[in-house]
This record gives sequence, C-alpha cells and structure tokens, in this order.
Amino acid sequence: MATLEIHDLHVTVDTESTDRPLEILRGVDLTVKQGETHAIMGPNGSGKSTLAYSLAGHPKYTVTGGTVTLDGENVLEMTVDERARAGVFLAMQYPVEIPGVSVSNFLRTSATAIRGEAPKLRTWVKEVREAMERLQVDPSFAERNVNEGFSGGEKKRHEILQLELLKPKIAILDETDSGLDVDALRIVSEGVNRVRETGEVGTLLITHYTRILRYIKPDYVHVFAAGRIAESGGAELADKLENEGYEAYTKGGASE
Ligand code: ADP
Ligand code: MG
Ligand code: MG
Repeated sequence: MATLEIHDLHVTVDTESTDRPLEILRGVDLTVKQGETHAIMGPNGSGKSTLAYSLAGHPKYTVTGGTVTLDGENVLEMTVDERARAGVFLAMQYPVEIPGVSVSNFLRTSATAIRGEAPKLRTWVKEVREAMERLQVDPSFAERNVNEGFSGGEKKRHEILQLELLKPKIAILDETDSGLDVDALRIVSEGVNRVRETGEVGTLLITHYTRILRYIKPDYVHVFAAGRIAESGGAELADKLENEGYEAYTKGGASE
C-alpha cells in the first residue's frame, strides 16, 4: 500500500519582483495512502499549486525544510522523471502546450517512460481508444498537438486521459474542475472516480470550489490557508466551507 508522507514542508519560490525568495509553504503535514481521496481546499494564493508543483519537482520551487517520502523513499532527492516513475502524477492547473508533439505520441512516450518498456502496440491503441471514448473525446483528438488550441475542457480531459492510462500511485489533481461546464465536470469526475475505484491510487484533489465534491466524494477535507493546512476533517468540512467560505481562515492573512 503506497503512502505519500509530507512532513513540515517549507517551500520558497524565486520571483522577479522580490530580491529574496518568497516563502509560500510554511509547514505542510499530510499523509496520503493509496485508495484514499483527500480534498485540499483553500482561497486563491494560499499555496495549493505550490504544493502540487513541489511534490512533482518543479525547478522554480525550492524546498527549504521538511520531508516528502513515498513508501519511505526520499521524493525530494528524485528528479522529475524519477518521481513520475515512482508513481507520482500531477495534473496541472494550467497545462502547457507542447508544440509538434501529438497527444498520441505524448501518451505513448509517457507510458513507455513510466512502465520502463514500450506498451505493446495493439493493446495500447485499444487502451487509448477506449479511454478516449469514456472521456467522450473525438478520435481526431489523438492527432492534435498537446494542449495547442485546446479548450479548457479539452485540456482537463487530456489530463484525465493521462491519469487513466498512466495509473499512478499518487495523483495530484490541481483544479481539474476549473473552467469546466457541468457536462464536462461530470465526465472528468467520472474519469477520476473510475481510477479511484481501482483502490490503487491515492488522490490529492486540489480545488477552490466545493462543486466538484458533489461528484467526487473525498475521504478527508483539508483547508489550506497561508501555506499550511489550517483544519482537517471529513466530507462535512466541505459543506461548512460551502456555507461559510474561507473568511474564518484568512483573517489577518495575506490571502484574499
Ligand atoms: P493557489 O494555487 O492556492 O492559488 P499558488 O501556489 O499558485 O496558490 O500561489 C501562492 C502564492 O505564491 C501566491 O502569492 C503567488 O503569487 C506566489 N507564487 C506562486 N508561484 C509563483 C511563481 N512561480 N512566481 C512568483 N510567485 C509565485
Ligand atoms: Mg490560484
Ligand atoms: Mg493554484
């Protein structure tokens, strides 16, 4: 049973606007086990994406304290590729364009890198086609360049397509609900739930809004404010946030 353990994580970001690195994460403690779904909810600017990027190994973020382990292995010492191979997956809030690389090639290259060998072509083609059907994307999607000219909904579906095909141990989904209309939200949520139901993935569902939690029921809800977890609870905590917002957590803080 894979376990991601984050202990007292401190992270700074290099900015152009300040001469000193800015401390964004200020002591994050969180344990995510395979099979569990944790919702991380918080106001804009509280550091949710910084947490996601730090776990994935984005070079712009510097860990200045604390530990992150996956089954006892030091994640912070791993390269981005090693983290992906170890089973850490990040669906970015703002997925980036990859000019000249088709969705089809991208998925196959990723699967090859993560599995350590190229997937058998015939089964792979079928796997991709079926996953695309479930996410209700047109077959021509596979030949388009990654995220080039994609709508918000297409970008998020592409993230979930990767999630379904790459089968990570720990999936970090950063605002996978943002920019989706109700139909797309349902399709994307169903994708996340299919992966969850295997019991083989631990999910870190980062969101600003409670809307997606109507479709994806978290086991735990954490309120993120000013770079750390301010409160943890069960699904009922999301209902409280829906009614009361984040104000109680941000008084006196820098976040809106
Ligand atoms: P959230 O995802 O909760 O909205 P972020 O992690 O994106 O929050 O940002 C937290 C804070 O860190 C914000 O004040 C943001 O401006 C700052 N920040 C994050 N990443 C960068 C960056 N790459 N460069 C400059 N500032 C950043
Ligand atoms: Mg934000
Ligand atoms: Mg964010």
